[in-house]
Amino acid sequence: MSATDPVEYEGLPWRVICGPGRLSDLPAEVERLQAARVLLIDGLEDPERIKEIEALLGATRAETLSDVRPHVPLELAQAARKTAAELEIDCLLAVGGGSAIGLAKAVALETEIPIVAIPTTYAGSEMTPIYGITDKAHKQTGRDLRVLPRTVIYDPELTLSLPAFLTGPSGINAIAHCVEALWTPLSNPASDAIATDGIRLLAQGLRACIAKPKDIDARATAQRGAWLGGMSLATAGTALHHKACHVLGGTFDLPHAEVHAAVLPAVTEFFSDAAPEAVASVARGLGTDDAVAGLRALADDLGVSSSLGKLGLTEKDTEYAAELIAAEAPAFPRPATVEDVRGILKQAY
Ligand code: NAD
Repeated sequence: MSATDPVEYEGLPWRVICGPGRLSDLPAEVERLQAARVLLIDGLEDPERIKEIEALLGATRAETLSDVRPHVPLELAQAARKTAAELEIDCLLAVGGGSAIGLAKAVALETEIPIVAIPTTYAGSEMTPIYGITDKAHKQTGRDLRVLPRTVIYDPELTLSLPAFLTGPSGINAIAHCVEALWTPLSNPASDAIATDGIRLLAQGLRACIAKPKDIDARATAQRGAWLGGMSLATAGTALHHKACHVLGGTFDLPHAEVHAAVLPAVTEFFSDAAPEAVASVARGLGTDDAVAGLRALADDLGVSSSLGKLGLTEKDTEYAAELIAAEAPAFPRPATVEDVRGILKQAY
């Protein structure tokens, strides 16, 4: 964006508690919300840690739900809403990644019960008012302030257990949120600064997490980057890259992270003339002078680099995908024709 572009920016009411050991702030945060009946939504699958959290909640814990699945199936949301109503729940505590937080959001959407989120991956959902619920293979997404968590506790100690095969994919998703935030129609000076520093923290932190998974500084750095990735997504939204990944993932059932890793450098190159400042910010965040090569190198280091060909897509599939993507492609920062998208996919192939 140039300094004379018009801007409309609305900040969100985030409350963030961050630091190693800050899980212990949980009782005070629940009390701050004047809550007495907490529904714990466990997407962490770590029984010891969940026992510790239940002990912290003490008598305020009304129930623990452990059936958490990806993309929030509607029947799961309905069951959780029923439990919340029956037990007169007044606070939802989501512990885990985007799936646990997504389930809490589905309950909050209808009930307005406040959410406390304790994220344990780098997905970033805890910072956004975006929800998604899946009914018969169709994921309906929307934006509603009622689902924005009231309090987020980032305690990097809870991410020490995240294995490399989840750290890399979760991290590349967060990077994609930051990168794309730099060229959406809602990009603004505040989100640009946040996204650029998010890329820096994620690139540095994630590489260190892969090298030393139990290093608390590495985990804390990556988590701070994920925090900024969530903020970038929440305020600037997404554009062509996420549309392309959504079509490729949904239509051809390809793995999310590897699709991001294959497509992001190609889209970045495509926008290098239309959004040179955004692409320069990506490079700056990565600490390189070539954003495209820098993104490829990062995906390599995180063990998620791939190509659409390796993922099993045929050339005929890419032709079809190009038509689907171009039909829905946002026109910002420049329109993408079928021919343009074909070029992007060819590169990612
Ligand atoms: P996830 O929540 O599905 O978790 C993946 C796996 O990681 C699970 O098996 C979980 O038990 C395990 N796990 C989580 N934390 C762990 C830890 N610290 N140690 C060991 N294992 C751990 O995955 P995700 O990537 O966090 O979330 C993906 C979902 O989030 C998708 O449905 C995506 O659409 C959604 N999402 C939503 C938003 C939003 O703003 N609404 C943003 C990003 C992602």
